Amino acid sequence: MPIPLSSPDITEAEIEAVTAVLRTPQLSLGPELPAFEAALAEYHKVPHAVAVSSGTAGLHLALLTLGIGEGDEVIVPSFAFVAVANVVAQVRATPVFAEIDPVTLNLDPHAVERAITAHTRALLVVHTFGIPADMHALRSIASRHNLLIVEDACEAIGAAIMNPEGSQTVGSFGDLAVLGFYPNKQVTTGEGGAVLARDTAHATRLRSLRNQGRMPSGDWLDHAEPGFNYRLSDLACALGRVQLSRIKEILALRRNVAERYQQLFIEAAIPGLEVPPLHLPDCRISWFVYVVRLPENVDRERVRSTLAERGIGTGRYFAPIHLQPAWRTLPGAASLQLPVTESIARRTLALPFFNRLNSDPQEQVVAALEQAIADVKNSTIA
Ligand SMILES: *Cc1c(COP(=O)(O)O)cnc(C)c1O
Repeated sequence: MPIPLSSPDITEAEIEAVTAVLRTPQLSLGPELPAFEAALAEYHKVPHAVAVSSGTAGLHLALLTLGIGEGDEVIVPSFAFVAVANVVAQVRATPVFAEIDPVTLNLDPHAVERAITAHTRALLVVHTFGIPADMHALRSIASRHNLLIVEDACEAIGAAIMNPEGSQTVGSFGDLAVLGFYPNKQVTTGEGGAVLARDTAHATRLRSLRNQGRMPSGDWLDHAEPGFNYRLSDLACALGRVQLSRIKEILALRRNVAERYQQLFIEAAIPGLEVPPLHLPDCRISWFVYVVRLPENVDRERVRSTLAERGIGTGRYFAPIHLQPAWRTLPGAASLQLPVTESIARRTLALPFFNRLNSDPQEQVVAALEQAIADVKNSTIA
């Protein structure tokens, strides 16, 4: 049996909810949209959530809503999904890549501080692989330099930072925050995303921009500014509502899978292999993917193809954005020094990881990885 890299967890409840929408005439802009948005806002304890057609669409609208544009710089990680750079360019601003912390793989606050110039307007903070970024340090930098913060929580719904007063979920720290619901995420709507907002004017602008720039109170043909069709259908919202209602169960299942991997890797003791941290101080991790680092000098592509021959899906999360053909030519890219990003990205390997992954296939994955690393090492020496 093949073991995929990821797999959505759809129960009868999701199927019934989507089917129920199909029996109504309102497949879009019906009652599921505000209901899903209200559930997202309540879960994150923020006043507003605006559902959109993808996480990328959400990032795009977040930057537009905050007025980021030509001449502005936005600090982003290079060890991230490429959308974080694409959307900055799409609003005609410039992404400035900053170094990450080698443990959390999130933006290193010291590196962020060094990357600030007179043109910096915002920090685009990704909670990579479901580990919360250091929001206390980043917020203090932002307030000292008068910068905006957009959180990219697309990989991290339900992750939280523990304060003396209790826990605070990611997505509630920034001026705006973005969630993503692609099928490999913890909560899925097929395709989809949402922007969380604290400011009512921001929420109004987001709603207008996702719907062709229509005025909120106006007619279908009244347009306040040029906008987009970034709407999310009621079918998707119904699916998302059930998924969100199951989030506690989903996060617990994923945590179990991560703990089982950890145990198996401790037993296997593969020399030079590094596993992700299970616990970090003052953090609740929301497990998105399970990414190990291969031993130095092991040919990752050969390990991947050996595993693929056995039906085991893997990913190489992430390829540094600043080294991509699309971004290498950015002014300043040639002199950019991101040694942590580059050395870690060369070694990362995402293993099969989803809610219903059982111990048997997990044992197969770990055994196959151990064998593949040994084979590749031996043939390199020979
Ligand atoms: C998944 C993801 C997104 C959004 O992706 P879409 O496919 O557009 O929904 C954005 N940022 C990060 C870091 C992601 O992992």
